Amino acid sequence: MTHDTDADVDVAIIGAGPAGATAAALLVRSGLSVHVLERSHFPRFSIGESLLPQCMHILDEAGLLSTVEAGGFQPKNGAVFTRRDHEAVIDFRDKFSDGWGTTYQVERAGFDQRLVEAATAQGARVDFGVTVTAFRPDTQRPCLTYLDEDGQETPLTARFVLDASGYGRVLARLLALGRDPRLEPRMALFSHVEDHIHDPTFDRDKILIGVHPEHASLWYWLIPFSHGRASVGVVGDAETLTAQGNAAEQRWQRLVDAEPRFRALLRDARPIRPVASLQGYSADVTRLHGPGYALLGNAGEFLDPVFSSGVTIALRSAHQAAPLVERQLRGDGVDWQHEFERPLRQGIETFRAFVDAWYDGRLPAIIFHDAHPASLKRMISSVLAGYAWDTANPFVSAARRRLTTLAELCGHVPAASGDST
Ligand SMILES: Cc1cc2nc3c(=O)[nH]c(=O)nc-3n(C[C@H](O)[C@H](O)[C@H](O)COP(=O)(O)OP(=O)(O)OC[C@H]3O[C@@H](n4cnc5c(N)ncnc54)[C@H](O)[C@@H]3O)c2cc1C
Repeated sequence: MTHDTDADVDVAIIGAGPAGATAAALLVRSGLSVHVLERSHFPRFSIGESLLPQCMHILDEAGLLSTVEAGGFQPKNGAVFTRRDHEAVIDFRDKFSDGWGTTYQVERAGFDQRLVEAATAQGARVDFGVTVTAFRPDTQRPCLTYLDEDGQETPLTARFVLDASGYGRVLARLLALGRDPRLEPRMALFSHVEDHIHDPTFDRDKILIGVHPEHASLWYWLIPFSHGRASVGVVGDAETLTAQGNAAEQRWQRLVDAEPRFRALLRDARPIRPVASLQGYSADVTRLHGPGYALLGNAGEFLDPVFSSGVTIALRSAHQAAPLVERQLRGDGVDWQHEFERPLRQGIETFRAFVDAWYDGRLPAIIFHDAHPASLKRMISSVLAGYAWDTANPFVSAARRRLTTLAELCGHVPAASGDST
């Protein structure tokens, strides 16, 4: 595409995480000039390490799959759920929707760096150590300002701006787009360990999700990486988590010790990162687009870590936005509400229905029920593999109703205050 000389660049992207790098790669592949502004220096730590198979075709289309495949990451083909002495296995390869059934569990520092290096190799310009501080929306020439590490402020005019700033939520803050995410605020405590897991029954190709034996809404993840390392985290209400001790390390260890499977698996584990905590991470915005801009990934909406949907939604948003940006810059009309926000939110709402059902007990009742017909199990497996946009799946097109009905058949009794249907 011809570069418009009035603007410094065709597309400016805020943030070089998975959403920003994928959007950058897709856009340069369609002939646009792209300038990515990233606050930090890579490699940098990020949480969000378990991918879903739905990511894979997007990485492929963006020309990013080969670098991921060469990264030596831990393959992933499903999830194991454990509660007391009961285990339930979901195999993503056995699913309702077409598409990939396997993916990876990744240390994000290396994964994100690989994506951004591959986007750069395809022609994107990526600047590190620059923080976007101001933005002026405009249909033709949106303009942002960035601050470098010498304190120098520079304006950048683009023909379109994508905000992929994740937890930075740059445009949501600058344009006051934030709204209540409609999810209870929760806290996560997490660390990386050298896991020293020798138990032959432990399947490294699956994420392990545990449920606290007494606090049913408190759950754990164990995400095995390659090279004998793993990410181990606990999520719950801040009151219960902080009641476990004064220091983050002590809280994390006590909680890990409280779950029998986690305690047994991790008895020889050695932490290789200080325990970190995050809270109030759920976020939403009133709109995912405006004059000359759109919001991708976490910069728009983030629900909850429980089904590892974050990177998948980030990639999906980039994949959906890129051809629309290209069309708009070619001079054709784009209806961002109908072509971007509505379809993207449809899949996010599927995940939201599953998240709500996890915390109110419907989904655990379904998952730990042994006797589902294979066809039903495949539909649920599909959503958990990230195929939350496949409306041919009844657990996508009518997620809440289906989850409620199935949970009742599995013996779940709704709480007295009322179930969400
Ligand atoms: C406890 C927890 C566990 C999670 N586990 C999973 C999981 O297992 N699987 C999963 O898929 N997801 C998980 N997630 C979600 C995942 O972390 C995010 O969804 C994902 O990182 C979003 O990618 P992104 O590209 O939108 O943003 P990010 O990865 O956050 O990237 C945004 C980038 O923007 C940069 N930036 C920010 N502000 C500015 C600025 N002003 N100027 C320039 N650059 C800026 C940042 O430095 C960053 O590099 C988890 C989240 C939490 C809270």
